[in-house]
Amino acid sequence: MTARIIDGKVIAAGLRDKVAAEVARLQRDHHVKPGLAVVLVGHDPASEVYVRSKGRQTVAAGMASTEHKLPADVALADLLALIAQLNADPAVHGILVQLPLPKGLETERVIAAIDPAKDVDGLHPINAGRLASGFTALAPCTPVGCIILSKTVHASLEGLNAIVIGRSNLVGRPLVQLLLNENATVTIAHSRTRDLAALCRQADLVYAAVGRAEMVRGAWIKPGATVIDVGINRFPGADGKDRLVGDVAYQEAFAVAGAVTPVPGGVGQMTVACLLLNTLRAACAIHGLPAPAM
Ligand code: NAP
Repeated sequence: MTARIIDGKVIAAGLRDKVAAEVARLQRDHHVKPGLAVVLVGHDPASEVYVRSKGRQTVAAGMASTEHKLPADVALADLLALIAQLNADPAVHGILVQLPLPKGLETERVIAAIDPAKDVDGLHPINAGRLASGFTALAPCTPVGCIILSKTVHASLEGLNAIVIGRSNLVGRPLVQLLLNENATVTIAHSRTRDLAALCRQADLVYAAVGRAEMVRGAWIKPGATVIDVGINRFPGADGKDRLVGDVAYQEAFAVAGAVTPVPGGVGQMTVACLLLNTLRAACAIHGLPAPAM
């Protein structure tokens, strides 16, 4: 048996199309144009690439996109002042501060300054708390993408055994909450977990969000399981370009799993598409309109 490949590129394109259609409807019926403001501090090359891509995809979905670039040595007070200005701007429905921030800027204080209603990265403690309480919340984009990908394989995740490897605020923890909301039975694993391989072998759904290349081996996978690989590990390729490798030994998993995401071309494709979805959701909520049916 070989696995079905979960094609993140195709699924993300479908999601972007649905978001664009809803954005057009929102403008036509309610004269609301969702707007996303991205704040980039410093000159991290990878962050600059991400921000450009986010801007392009936001505009392609029919939303307004603004970019705010600040120098790496910006004073915290000036960054907080910009966030306050964006919080108050009625044309802005989503605010994303590109992480990581340069050293010296307190990420926690910066995230806490964002209006939770505009926190499209889903990292504000109010959104994390609401998600953990089972209330409506803006949830981080990558885990939202993981759920959408899983649901292309399983119409319902109810009652399935899931393991989430990694417990970061960005991926692992919110993913656990989203899976609980889907009525999956969830195990969360981390660097102190004992006998991870045995735990993994019990899972119908395996989510790897660790940042260790090919850590999850084929022998850890229950035959027929769905494997969602969040990891992005970069290695210099022979052609000078970076080669991307996931947290799962892909070929091994492919031989055992029922379905598996490739790296690249899996979860990574979904993250920006889910950012557009979150911006649309934020715009609807801010204007007191029902959440888009997606
Ligand atoms: P992170 O903050 O570094 O968290 C890594 C987690 O992995 C931690 O909870 C850590 O456990 C756990 N871990 C480390 N070694 C382990 C081991 N040997 N066994 C079990 N667990 C172990 O990373 P992150 O931000 O969640 O990102 C994880 C990966 O996803 C990275 O490769 C990142 O590049 C990628 N990523 C991809 C996307 C995307 O769009 N595709 C988005 C975000 C992140 P402890 O808590 O015990 O230290």
